[in-house]
Amino acid sequence: EAPSPLPELTRVITVSNQKGGVGKTTTTVNLASALARRGANVLVIDLDPQGNASTALGVPHRPEVTSVYDVLLGESGISDALQRSTDHQRLFCVPSTINLAGAEIELVSLVAREQRLRTALQSFLSSSDRFFHYVFIDCPPSLGLLTVNAFVAADEVLIPIQCEYYALEGLSQLLGNIELIQKHLNPRLRVSTILLTMYDARTNLAQEVAQEVREHFADEVLDAVIPRSVRVSEAPSYGQTVHAYDSRSIGALAYLEAAAEIAGRGAPTPKEHDDGR
Ligand code: ADP
Ligand code: MG
Repeated sequence: EAPSPLPELTRVITVSNQKGGVGKTTTTVNLASALARRGANVLVIDLDPQGNASTALGVPHRPEVTSVYDVLLGESGISDALQRSTDHQRLFCVPSTINLAGAEIELVSLVAREQRLRTALQSFLSSSDRFFHYVFIDCPPSLGLLTVNAFVAADEVLIPIQCEYYALEGLSQLLGNIELIQKHLNPRLRVSTILLTMYDARTNLAQEVAQEVREHFADEVLDAVIPRSVRVSEAPSYGQTVHAYDSRSIGALAYLEAAAEIAGRGAPTPKEHDDGR
């Protein structure tokens, strides 16, 4: 298989689902790591106050560390908050700290409160010496202002769906919110990718959920499916991605496949009425 080319324009991908525990953070760090291993420069912005993406990438996120919180409040630029991951030399992270937990409320009174991440990211990308091929934004499990900032900063949404009971519950609310963002704040935004996670091929339920999601979202769902795997869940407790922890595990291979598909599909083509911004 010929490796797919790196994107010429930065692809900014928000990983979102307002449900907790569906694999957003796991998907963010392991896809980002996989793409870095394929030769891309990748930036992960950790937008969850829990800082799990920062942990998995081996990036300190004690409260005193300059973080995405300072970026959102306009007190630092992304270049001040950026740290290189321990995972791969081409993989960088803007960490989140616990300070971010108050940001939903603090942001409310600020000017252009929905645009703050976009403004900071655009200014960083246009001034950085390093060209980033991909930016991933790991969202908290809510549809509040942090997630709105992520949707406004991104071109693409990747939705991880856990192959479990109630997998599709809340999905129409998420899609409805994305439509509102498209209409009022970011016409470029597309749901480009749906990834089935924690798939257990031995259960009928997982197969049924996968089939239902594929029927509804034929174009968006990746062929690659992430299996439920102990190695995937163990890696973060060592401050590692699954690729660093056990590169030959089925979880690592599945994330490499998903990354190859995302790279191969390229960015979604903008709709005709887009103004090309
Ligand atoms: P979210 O960010 O959506 O809250 P996480 O990525 O933190 O979800 O995943 C929730 C839990 O499920 C974590 O404990 C994680 O280690 C585990 N997990 C995620 N993906 C897998 C997988 N493919 N196999 C096994 N455990 C997984
Ligand atoms: Mg998470």
